Amino acid sequence: MGDIKSNIDIFKPYLQVNNPYKGGKTLAEIKSANQKIYKLSSNENPLGCSPKAQAAIIEAAKNLHLYPDRTDERIQHALASFYENKLEPEQFLVANSGSETIELIIRAFLGEGLECIVSNPTFLVYQMFTKWQGAKVVDIRLNEPDYSLNIDAIIHAVNDKTRLIFLTSPNNPTGTYIPKEDIDNLISLLPEHVIVVLDEVYYNFAEAEDYTTALPYVLDNKNVIGINSFSKTYGLAAMRIGYFYTTKKLSNYIHQVCKPFILNKLSMEAGIAALTDTTFVEETVAIVKKERAFLQSEIEKIGVPYWKSQGNFVMIKPSMTPAEFEKKMLDEGVMVRPVESFGAPGCVRITIGQREANEAAISAIRKICS
Ligand SMILES: *Cc1c(COP(=O)(O)O)cnc(C)c1O
Repeated sequence: MGDIKSNIDIFKPYLQVNNPYKGGKTLAEIKSANQKIYKLSSNENPLGCSPKAQAAIIEAAKNLHLYPDRTDERIQHALASFYENKLEPEQFLVANSGSETIELIIRAFLGEGLECIVSNPTFLVYQMFTKWQGAKVVDIRLNEPDYSLNIDAIIHAVNDKTRLIFLTSPNNPTGTYIPKEDIDNLISLLPEHVIVVLDEVYYNFAEAEDYTTALPYVLDNKNVIGINSFSKTYGLAAMRIGYFYTTKKLSNYIHQVCKPFILNKLSMEAGIAALTDTTFVEETVAIVKKERAFLQSEIEKIGVPYWKSQGNFVMIKPSMTPAEFEKKMLDEGVMVRPVESFGAPGCVRITIGQREANEAAISAIRKICS
């Protein structure tokens, strides 16, 4: 053994920060013996999951001793058909959740000495995974009070070390979206070495006319990646499956950090079946849009400030602390999510549920806030 100095610090300094992201609580953590609880805290699907996906999982569970596919190739093909062959199979990457695709992108592009730009309040994993790589997070906060994107400040923050810009539209937790013109504008001003990651997992629920996904930019061969998930629209949160699509060049590069057998058999079959379940998606979108309008108009009547949402949730700002509001709502049998940790002080996010759950939420809010 050669010379070894004492007191070698084996811990990476950037892994010793406190992790701010704690997922929402499960029902089992909350449930008391005899109270009915409406879980409106994790943006889950009000209709449950795609029946086609569920049937595929049951079928696939018959052969658990066999290794699954080595790669995501089969579901890449299913996605290419789903996108009407506007994209080629190799332009997709499918992994264990939308969050994992984000992690793979970050692992492929960021490291010590490099930077990404995020705009809080937003989904926390971009920051969390960037820190794991020892890279720097530059936060260009959304403009208040409308939570629009601060494009000038983003452009100003771009430098030689910048690799990724995370945009979320519709955004979690604010429910706001980024108009196409703003994204066009931003992309036109960016240098070649900067990639825009557009997280569009709530795209099915957007109805604004000037809403856009990443698709037109990818088709135009821009450095843009569109993030998607099976957790929300298809109701497959428990399966952990998500995907992105981008240019061939970026997709093939990021595929290098995919481990073999990346997707388990049940998730892969569920995902492929879900993509064909247009009925379930239509029903989900219809109920979310209808109930979102109902919830927003009732909140408006009560007079609690809220942001018009394009997602399957609504963010409100009650006149008490989010923790206090959360507790009082739970006493009324409704689970909601304080989103201060997402960078939205004083705010709480309420997922759109079925009418019965939304009515329970509304009467609870009315009772607590008036
Ligand atoms: C839910 C969500 C995701 C992805 O969720 P997974 O369950 O990890 O697929 C990604 N981005 C945003 C903004 C989300 O809200």
